Amino acid sequence: MGAMSVDGLVAIVTGGASGIGAAIARRLHEEGAQVAVLDRDISGADAEFTAFTADVSDRASVNAAVAAVAEKFGGIDIVINNAGIGAQGDVAANDDDEWARVLSINVTGMARVSAAALPWLRKSASAAICNTASIASTTGLPQRALYSASKGAVSALTRAMAADHLREGIRVNAVNPGTADTPWVGRLLDSAADPTAERAALQARQPHGRLVSPDEVAGAVLYLVSPASGSTTGTFIEVDGGMAALR
Ligand code: NAD
Repeated sequence: MGAMSVDGLVAIVTGGASGIGAAIARRLHEEGAQVAVLDRDISGADAEFTAFTADVSDRASVNAAVAAVAEKFGGIDIVINNAGIGAQGDVAANDDDEWARVLSINVTGMARVSAAALPWLRKSASAAICNTASIASTTGLPQRALYSASKGAVSALTRAMAADHLREGIRVNAVNPGTADTPWVGRLLDSAADPTAERAALQARQPHGRLVSPDEVAGAVLYLVSPASGSTTGTFIEVDGGMAALR
């Protein structure tokens, strides 16, 4: 078994029915993991994976789904906290309900799923968590105040969890993707006045001149949850075409 193998390990992937989460689920499956997708809409989930309908903003729903995964597979080794939603505008653009809704999904959702999985992770000899943060965690993106606040919190949560669970052998890391070619970004483009021009503008904003591929994010995630990164915790991999380097 190579160092990047996750053969036989049980992995939960939240938001695994679309985009980056779907690519992570596929990659972990290819490397031998038993994959459980947790998503509020499992209609897009790959039929090869066991999929559980769960809303990460609802603790009862999360607890039930995580317990169902552990019961079906006999444990949990890997948690991919990837479910997340966007929010547009400056700091005045969203009301309190919208702030609460986005933070509950993007931040507290990761805490809920991790907390529910902890008892099983503590029993695993290969326990790892990987959170999907964003370039918005570290870069001041215009018109993304709420989203950036949520992803900055994901970075802080990643470090705090890494510190808390270090001695328990549970590693916690994150990836910071740049703008990636997913259904989410597809929806944004569809709502633009000129989707083709908007796609060209988005690509031009990436230092490497194209959108990030979800498979490129999945490769970084695989490294961070595999034994190859056994001494790595509380860190981030930028999958952003060089954006952080140019900051
Ligand atoms: P996507 O919309 O294609 O997929 C997100 C998935 O999460 C969907 O299947 C959706 O049903 C699920 N989901 C949303 N809210 C949920 C909830 N409350 N409970 C359970 N599941 C829920 O999006 P994507 O582009 O693949 O984004 C995935 C993650 O990557 C997000 O956390 C996002 O912030 C992050 N990200 C995306 C980009 C990008 O450019 N696409 C860049 C940086 C970070």
